[in-house]
Amino acid sequence: MHKKLLEQVYKTSDFNSNGHLLIDQLTSHLEDKLNASSRNAINWNEPEKELEFWKNFLSDGDSNDLFKEITKRTTHIHHPHYMGHQVSPPAPITALTGLISSLINNGTAVYEMGMSSNAIERIIIELVCKKIGFAETSGGFLTSGGTLANLTALLSARKAITKRDIWNKGNQNQLGIMVSEEAHYCVDRAARIMGLGEQGIIKVPVTKEFRMDTDLMESKFKEAQEKGIEIFAIIGSAPSTATGIFDDLEVIGEFAKKQNIWFHVDGAHGGAGIFSKKYKHTIKGIELADSVVIDGHKMMMMPALTTALVYKDVKNAKATFSQKADYLLSDSEYEDWYNSGKRTFECTKNMMAIHWFTLLKLYGEEVFDANVTLLYDMGALFASLIEQEPNLELALQPMSNIVCFRYYSPGLDTEELNALNAKIRQFLLEDGEFYIVQTKLKGSHYMRITVMNPFSTEQHFKALIDKIKAFSTSRLFS
Ligand SMILES: *Cc1c(COP(=O)(O)O)cnc(C)c1O
Repeated sequence: MHKKLLEQVYKTSDFNSNGHLLIDQLTSHLEDKLNASSRNAINWNEPEKELEFWKNFLSDGDSNDLFKEITKRTTHIHHPHYMGHQVSPPAPITALTGLISSLINNGTAVYEMGMSSNAIERIIIELVCKKIGFAETSGGFLTSGGTLANLTALLSARKAITKRDIWNKGNQNQLGIMVSEEAHYCVDRAARIMGLGEQGIIKVPVTKEFRMDTDLMESKFKEAQEKGIEIFAIIGSAPSTATGIFDDLEVIGEFAKKQNIWFHVDGAHGGAGIFSKKYKHTIKGIELADSVVIDGHKMMMMPALTTALVYKDVKNAKATFSQKADYLLSDSEYEDWYNSGKRTFECTKNMMAIHWFTLLKLYGEEVFDANVTLLYDMGALFASLIEQEPNLELALQPMSNIVCFRYYSPGLDTEELNALNAKIRQFLLEDGEFYIVQTKLKGSHYMRITVMNPFSTEQHFKALIDKIKAFSTSRLFS
């Protein structure tokens, strides 16, 4: 009986017919969304109702509707009205490479479990290192997301900089890292996982432009030292998630060098700027970093999760999870780049390198330039439209495709403005025609867009702005 059921599971003719059906369905989905043929970017449903739906579907739903329902009941990232979180509308071909990875299921941790993807991964990493401006001694790997990559980089930093053998003996003294108060929350989380505690996270305030105030680095460093905290790393955000504003990597890099600490660049979002001729300047100084994180699933048109973590000196990648001290690793241990599991948090890891390689092979590295440059240009265009509106204001001049803005009326105090802007966002969410997000900046509530879809146009932006204006006016005068 068991065998029979399993034979059904592995029936290749079912795979073939389901596969063709699914590709047809997904193609219609793509055509519909990319052309904005249907109105909504999201069909909002309350969590409890959604749960109810799927409970009922499991018992009574028609399995022929399964794929269709899953696709329908999601946020449509390929819709040009999607301007929410920093997730890419994947290039359709990378959905197919995802399919290969899922079916072949080579775990890549050891060479022979993913020979092609281990070799391909090395090519990708070499390209990323070269674009950053790293020398031949650089290297790295792909890993499952920016969050995990940031934690891994900080572990490498601790191993490389602190004099004590923490990997084997555990924490012995109070260690610390320095980071902008606007950094992604995952940096804070990584520090806590590493046992640094709150006191080990030295937050450097930001300027009124929301960049790390580099004038304060020196005094913050001294202050921590006087408290007996050994600082081993400083992190630059490129850019910080909420605002899309880049820290001054050049100045932070020089500071790190002077203090003999590790310089990590969290370029999960904007690290892809290494490919943009027009916007490379946003990450000036990235070449000074000891480690850099770049997400493929944000600005590089790939499906989640795939993140490049690269090191100026590849030895540090090898040493992170090694029981031995760095200088005890033999040359052959440095050299076995093809057993990537020794360097990654993951043991089994999907064949994520093939997304990068396929895009590179089919469209060339210009495709990354095209995407980053267009999306950043569109961020600037959206900001210019906001500036033309008397009752809308920008939080900041954007430096990327992330733009924060709010409805503003001089007659309202901060609390009323916050409430109104939160209401506008909630209205948009439930209405569904557009998907945008929100953030709090220094106590004020802002709406936030990230232009992720290269087919979002000025017309789409104007339609969103008109909708916001109409709603706010109706609220104010009701
Ligand atoms: C998105 C983001 C992260 C987290 O990356 P994931 O791939 O979502 O884990 C970290 N830092 C910054 C600056 C980000 O924008």
